[in-house]
Amino acid sequence: MSTPSPTHPKPGVLDLVREDLRAFAGYSSARSHKVEGTVWLNANESPWTNAADGAGALRRYPQPQPDALRARLAEVYGVRPEQLLIGRGSDEAIDLLVRALCRAEHDPVVIAPPVFGMYAVCARLQGAPIIEAPLRDYADGWIADLAAMRDLATARRAKIVFLCSPGNPTGELIPLAAIRAMAQMLVGRALVVVDEAYIEYADAPSAASLIDEYPNIAVLRTLSKLHALAGARIGCLLADPALIEVLRRCQAPYPVPEPCAALALRALSPEALAQASERAARIRAERGRMLAALQSLAGVRRVYPSAGNFLLARFDDAETAYRRLLAAGVVVRDMRASPGLGDALRITIGTPDENDAVFAALQPVEAAA
Ligand SMILES: *Cc1c(COP(=O)(O)O)cnc(C)c1O
Repeated sequence: MSTPSPTHPKPGVLDLVREDLRAFAGYSSARSHKVEGTVWLNANESPWTNAADGAGALRRYPQPQPDALRARLAEVYGVRPEQLLIGRGSDEAIDLLVRALCRAEHDPVVIAPPVFGMYAVCARLQGAPIIEAPLRDYADGWIADLAAMRDLATARRAKIVFLCSPGNPTGELIPLAAIRAMAQMLVGRALVVVDEAYIEYADAPSAASLIDEYPNIAVLRTLSKLHALAGARIGCLLADPALIEVLRRCQAPYPVPEPCAALALRALSPEALAQASERAARIRAERGRMLAALQSLAGVRRVYPSAGNFLLARFDDAETAYRRLLAAGVVVRDMRASPGLGDALRITIGTPDENDAVFAALQPVEAAA
């Protein structure tokens, strides 16, 4: 298999980018060009350190894409550094993709609700039409209607198809073979974005392995969930190098704050990664325990199998369940405003004690008394 180089991308990826942005240079920052020097007077920074900033790590503007962190993230996610863009959470990458690929009013995105809300939010902000191909609720769980998504994308000339795997809030895992088939059908027409915010809990392979073969596949990863760094705002887009280059030029000049980059690098040490994967195993075990426990409760209509760190459950009376949990100090996600989820709550898997608190709060009143 040949490896696309940044200068000679396979046909198709850049064709998906808005024509007016293909040659867009973006903002030329003090850090855009690599030059050598010992006296740095090109960015109007202070010559002195802030008293609050001990070693002066923050006096200078940071690297737009910190080299060490980029290299480490690429290693961890199994891609080359030039196939990776670091953003302020994967949320920023979603926004960049919609802005760079979709012309307002013209180029739609396809989503499969109920799903993570940011795809539609970013599309709305950009004025990109939103085409919905609802997930299907089958006896053994939620399944994305990939054929419908693909057909709608083709018929309506959508530029982006958003897949969420594992799905939030449904927990559905989409097989790689299906993602590959979708990308194959949409070559040169649409970018298939696979949001893998929860993939570590699925114990399944990442779609990142398909990027070399299909430049119209892009993958979102984040340090916000398994790596316990939601507050640091570090997420990644893995994609064809030509697309990464375009998005870099659309991104803010210094998107990654230095303290966050340094922390993220420490959080990706071999020891930290070993701890993370051990925690993923614990979450999976608790997820299985909670699935069985919740299913045994009167008043719980249905609990969906989940590949994420959460469970989606339907209740006879979701309002009462939500209030009982709140009364016990437990806050879960009320999904009732989402399409098809008028009776559902999404419950994140916590520590064993926290999960026990969920179970206790949902006991029928007589049993709890
Ligand atoms: C939590 C979540 C994200 C993560 O967003 P960050 O901006 O990286 O914190 C992305 N996608 C989905 C589906 C999520 O649930």
